[in-house]
Amino acid sequence: MTLELKNNPTLSDYQDYIRQMKQERGFNTTDKFYECCLLAEECGELISAIRKNSKSGSIGSGSVAGNIAEELADVFIYVCSLANMHNIDLEQAFRAKEEKNKQRTWKRLA
Ligand SMILES: [Mg+2]
Repeated sequence: MTLELKNNPTLSDYQDYIRQMKQERGFNTTDKFYECCLLAEECGELISAIRKNSKSGSIGSGSVAGNIAEELADVFIYVCSLANMHNIDLEQAFRAKEEKNKQRTWKRLA
């Protein structure tokens, strides 16, 4: 089966795509802790891209906005992958968590 993301994909479609992509490329599909490490690495790359893209980033660091998009995509891939490894439907998880969040009282800083 050809690896292809559907048009107008649902979150479940992304999870299915990533499941298939990881199998086809021989990537880790079983070691959950290792996958957490890869997610953390990608979070670090995202932070670095944002820092380099901001005014407070180091001079001449050369990062462009495109890197931020790529790193966000990488983080998304690992979030979906970890959800797959735990048989979690991310849309359901998101809806359930947002229902909880709606009940919370959020303190605002002055
Ligand atoms: Mg990356």
